[in-house]
Amino acid sequence: MNAASPLFGKILIANRGEIALRVLRACKELGIATVAVHSTADGDAMHVRLADESVCIGPPPARDSYLNIPQILAACEITGADAVHPGYGFLSENARFAEILQAHNVAFIGPSAEHIRIMGDKIEAKRTAGRLGIPVVPGSDGGVTNDVAARKIAAEIGYPVLIKAASGGGGRGMKVARSPDEISDALANARSEAQAAFGDDAVYVEKYLAKPRHIEVQVLGDGKGGAVHLGERDCSLQRRHQKVWEEAPSPAIDEAARVRIGGIVAQAVASLGYSGAGTVEFLYENGEFYFIEMNTRLQVEHPVTEAITGIDLVNEQIRIASGRSLSFDQEDVTFEGHAIECRVNAEDPRTFAASPGRIANYHPPGGLGVRVDSAVYQGYRIPPYYDSLIGKLIVHGRTRIECMMRLRRALDEFVIDGIRTTIPLFRDLVVDDDIASGQYDIHWLEKRLSASVELHGRTG
Ligand code: ADP
Repeated sequence: MNAASPLFGKILIANRGEIALRVLRACKELGIATVAVHSTADGDAMHVRLADESVCIGPPPARDSYLNIPQILAACEITGADAVHPGYGFLSENARFAEILQAHNVAFIGPSAEHIRIMGDKIEAKRTAGRLGIPVVPGSDGGVTNDVAARKIAAEIGYPVLIKAASGGGGRGMKVARSPDEISDALANARSEAQAAFGDDAVYVEKYLAKPRHIEVQVLGDGKGGAVHLGERDCSLQRRHQKVWEEAPSPAIDEAARVRIGGIVAQAVASLGYSGAGTVEFLYENGEFYFIEMNTRLQVEHPVTEAITGIDLVNEQIRIASGRSLSFDQEDVTFEGHAIECRVNAEDPRTFAASPGRIANYHPPGGLGVRVDSAVYQGYRIPPYYDSLIGKLIVHGRTRIECMMRLRRALDEFVIDGIRTTIPLFRDLVVDDDIASGQYDIHWLEKRLSASVELHGRTG
């Protein structure tokens, strides 16, 4: 029954930038026709040029184009696309979008609307994870609406605590309270930030871990009770709770911990009947894993897992969405070498101010073990309307040391002129002793950045 289900005839890619290109490449390798959608600001984008067909879906603001469900649906109908890949961001975790597509007989390349909904509400996600035997961060069992309730929980779990938005994402709607006096402000601020960012002021309380690492497990489920894990990624180098540099395997965990947490996660995903790719995120401290959330989509940092496993995650997503079972078992998954990804943003490497504009010169690095996922080219004008991520440099080596040396030389080769990028930041990080020894937690980069501002001056 497996091999009998045909893959899709035509996939519409509801995204832009490097991820639209990434998905397009997987479709082409599977012999599936592609449809690009784009805003009026993206008429000359690479994903539009390389797709078999393209449809303009609206003006530059994302809410009028890349988030415009009726327009995307119309584009499916006009072109006869039978599936949509949402990439990451935009509509990728929008349960209603998945439902609407299904109602129109267009497949959503991702999990069921029900699973997107459960994991999109972090309170519900934590509850579900706990029920499935995944260790979670100690905290409130459900939402917290007033100071008295928040103080009661905080007294039970101990300070400091973190107040977090139930609908949170991108590191927003999170406030620390270090003592009972700070609860009131933290709660009010987290709620108003959550309301402004997500239109939902529901928040919950959890233990604020002092020096954890961020370690996440990649999973694939076939929706029929089959699931495998593809190991972990260490994403502890963060700025404002957003990932900057990711690596696999984690320099902080050993084979026994990998097998243990991977096994727990794969089992949970299998019993949920989860379908597609997903990432279960943990904080890791003193040898213990604590679940924080699950992302029900492809992640920016998926290429590091692809590098060490040789598995094409987008290809697997497409196969699963078309109804096939997993083509391999857990025993078939092997890990080779070490991979690091650097997120190249069109931003000033010191102030992180956005730096859109025209790329005057572009020369990406190459050679053995070097992958650049980017949709920019020489002469391309980066529009000011979207995320500042313009590319990812992914480097693979037989050992972590080889990988770091390769990253160093790849960063040296990388030329992007005409705009400012975060490449100089990575040139600093790749020669840092703490990074070389793998000794960093989620606060390391922030501390390092504020130290260098003091040293060089804010405008230097
Ligand atoms: P988002 O969905 O906004 O990305 P997450 O729950 O995934 O939020 O957390 C993002 C980051 O915030 C984590 O990688 C970590 O750096 C920090 N963080 C989240 N929860 C905690 C916690 N309980 N203690 C300490 N840091 C946390």
